[in-house]
Amino acid sequence: MGMARGPRPPGAAYAGLLRNYIGGEWVPSQATEQQQVVNPATEEALADVPLGHPADVEAAVAAARAAFPAWRQTPPRERVQPLYRLKSLLEQHREELARLVTTEHGKTLEEARGSVQRAIENVEVACGIPSLMMGYGLEDGAARAIDEEVVRQPLGVFAAICPFNFPAMVPFWFLPYAVATGNTFIIKPSEQVPLTQQRIAELIAEAGFPPGVINLVHGARTTVDALLDHPAITGISFVGSTPVARYVYRRAAEQGKRVQAQGGAKNVLVLMPDAVLEQAIPNVLGSAFGSAGQRCLAGSLVVTVADRGGQQASAIAEAARSLRVGNGLEPGVDVGPVISEQARDRILAAIQQGIDEGARLRVDGRGAAERRPGFFVGPTVFDQVTPAMTISQTEIFGPVLGIIAVDTLEEALAIIEGLPYGNAASIFTRDGKVAREFRYRAPVGNVGINIGVAAPMAYFPFGGRKASFFGTLHGQGRDAIAFFTDPKVVIIRWF
Ligand code: NAD
Repeated sequence: MGMARGPRPPGAAYAGLLRNYIGGEWVPSQATEQQQVVNPATEEALADVPLGHPADVEAAVAAARAAFPAWRQTPPRERVQPLYRLKSLLEQHREELARLVTTEHGKTLEEARGSVQRAIENVEVACGIPSLMMGYGLEDGAARAIDEEVVRQPLGVFAAICPFNFPAMVPFWFLPYAVATGNTFIIKPSEQVPLTQQRIAELIAEAGFPPGVINLVHGARTTVDALLDHPAITGISFVGSTPVARYVYRRAAEQGKRVQAQGGAKNVLVLMPDAVLEQAIPNVLGSAFGSAGQRCLAGSLVVTVADRGGQQASAIAEAARSLRVGNGLEPGVDVGPVISEQARDRILAAIQQGIDEGARLRVDGRGAAERRPGFFVGPTVFDQVTPAMTISQTEIFGPVLGIIAVDTLEEALAIIEGLPYGNAASIFTRDGKVAREFRYRAPVGNVGINIGVAAPMAYFPFGGRKASFFGTLHGQGRDAIAFFTDPKVVIIRWF
């Protein structure tokens, strides 16, 4: 493997070959292969990441298993103390972490700061575990003088397999809840962006979790398979593309694990004729082009309803042209690079396919791809798109927006129903009845009413439907607590 081999920046900016954090120690991976981590805005090498070995997973599972009995017996109020310390460490290092996210991922610093904040909020919610994981009971619930109650118990070792697009945030949909409920945990970050979690693991060490409670294992496919197959891992949380989510769900379920697997998306933003355009347009742009479109909640299709004279489409195209592409660390930049050369080429090919299928290219972002160093694609807007086109049906995961014009809300809903994905959908309208109809019927996990990115806060669950999610319990909030615990029923009679 190992794609672009960039120049090493001078001095401390190069992190060398990354190590795993297992059982409270930094240990070298047994991997024979490694890959360069590259700043996508500058093509500078940041580190080398080991691509993993089953022995790494074996060691991490052994550490996590060994730590489980004592951690489980630690009272919930004591278990959350290192989480409180982690919260304050994350806050102290907020800016450093945001810069690291931008450096290895490319999103703008402002976007990176927001994603670190979301990670912190998940720690805050998990600090409420003493209340949140309580069970319930009923005197005489089974019969006269026979009481019945439910307690929520942790189950052992859990693992999370994470995508490249949110280096700080996505692991925190799982990690704080898994350990607060008394499980022990293994995180495998994306091999494309391992540095943020590497730094966070240092903060985790500083926060004083007992050795083995939280472990970090670098790697790619080999590591994932070893996690999925390991009999001592109870459950898997996955976030990534749909083909891999489907694979992870099937393979881990075959081993009897509980699984939550979040996949890809194609999110529709519906613009009704009565939408408040001055509000809606910036929302549409933020949704489509934020993080250079590399977001599972990115609005990648706009459906305009009865857009007479194509005014809404023109307003979107005009606004998209004004966005500034560049290095996300620089002020004034709206759209950073995409993650890799490979991703850039895939996105350029998708744009070409849109042209070939007959969509009209209103804003052409391909010029930005000539800018080197870095892997850039500028905001790209198609109109005259039809629902059957490949650019409508597939996730492009780049700054490419398609606009479909229809006459009725019914047609807009039919487009959403016809998509393979079901992560999010939004509607922009002033009409409460229309909004109600939309939220009632849209077959997605997250609905936005005059909101471009329908991202739930940490105390709400997050997940999609159809090919966007495999499993039952979503990430974050109460769903996360249910996923990481099992309800044990106790029926009690005393003679
Ligand atoms: P990806 O599927 O390529 O990789 C995700 C993880 O799976 C990585 O840790 C990677 O090492 C591992 N992996 C990749 N290929 C594998 C294989 N063949 N076998 C086993 N493991 C493998 O996803 P990505 O490109 O890192 O992330 C982007 C995708 O994630 C997009 O499709 C996006 O929509 C999705 N995503 C979804 C959500 C959500 O909540 N639904 C959130 C963020 C991202």
